Amino acid sequence: ALTIGIVGLPNVGKSTLFNALTKNSVLAANYPFATIEPNIGVVNLPDSRLAVLAEIFGSERILPAAVSFVDIAGIVRGASEGEGLGNKFLANIREADAIAQVVRGFSDDDVVHVDGAVNPAGDMETINTELILADLETLEKAQARFEKEVKGKKLDPIVLTTAEAAKAYLDTGKPLSSSGLDLEPIRELGLLTSKPFIYVFNIDEGVLQDDLKLAELAALVAPAKAIFLDAKLESELIDLDAEDAAELLASTGQTESGLDQLARIGFDTLGLQTYLTAGPKETRAWTIPKGAKAPQAAGVIHTDFERGFIKAEIISFEDLVATGSVAEARAKGKARMEGKDYVMADGDVVEFRFNV
Ligand code: GDP
Repeated sequence: ALTIGIVGLPNVGKSTLFNALTKNSVLAANYPFATIEPNIGVVNLPDSRLAVLAEIFGSERILPAAVSFVDIAGIVRGASEGEGLGNKFLANIREADAIAQVVRGFSDDDVVHVDGAVNPAGDMETINTELILADLETLEKAQARFEKEVKGKKLDPIVLTTAEAAKAYLDTGKPLSSSGLDLEPIRELGLLTSKPFIYVFNIDEGVLQDDLKLAELAALVAPAKAIFLDAKLESELIDLDAEDAAELLASTGQTESGLDQLARIGFDTLGLQTYLTAGPKETRAWTIPKGAKAPQAAGVIHTDFERGFIKAEIISFEDLVATGSVAEARAKGKARMEGKDYVMADGDVVEFRFNV
């Protein structure tokens, strides 16, 4: 499944945010190392199109796409040298598809900052250095094994040369994501700095409306995406019904909750999009990589759909809403029959034709 790992220094609000993410109650405590065990939370990708389709088709239920989040322990300076909890928790995010780094921007004298002061740029530097060191360690360990296997002709030499190139790049102090290297040969290593990164700034409610400050923080991480939220506010929002939540959000100048942003931007960062199916039983969003062709999209529903793919009848969401029904859309020539080379567009409403 599609997962995003959460990292950050202790006391930056990871647990508070994660609580809000899952509506579960994981331990949030005001001291370092409170979050040791990884937990997994699933969040729905907000998609206002689903309710509209469900109305048109009279669907009994709606199934949105989902993004999973993995809560992990905080990283401290020196973690890669075995300080604090050491590096073992990093194994939890090796499998993640992307990493969300929570950065503390809120000020609160009652909440201890591990390095003594609130300093977003310094904190990011600490985390990124630890991730680079962790990758170097992974590569060093793997290298001896790769050398032996290449000598024994059991491994493609490209694996070893890729590992060497990656190590040389990390030695310059930069994350692999900016290296431009093709890391596919060493994908099994799950190198942390090769993953897409999202920065989540946990800031005070007042700062959420301070555009200058937000631009300043966004510039620190560009071209990576930045999300701004107040973890405390997020945890209040989830306890409210939709109407009260919208009102509270509006009172802080927001139109979308931080969690919705996180799911949406996470989805986008991972290069994913959705297509939609609808009928009397359910309206559903299906997750596919951007650029996926029709048979691959069909395969997400069932492997048989991919194998036996004949064609797909596609109506864009906008056309379906404008015409009001599948029959009307067909009558107006808005329903297209697409073959196996069709590249799916976001929001395509689809019915597959296939052989079984
Ligand atoms: P973690 O160690 O990164 O998981 O941090 P926690 O989520 O446990 O938060 C540490 C402390 O900071 C807790 O006492 C939280 O209540 C507090 N905290 C978290 N987010 C915020 C925030 O946005 N504003 C303020 N003022 N306090 C927060």
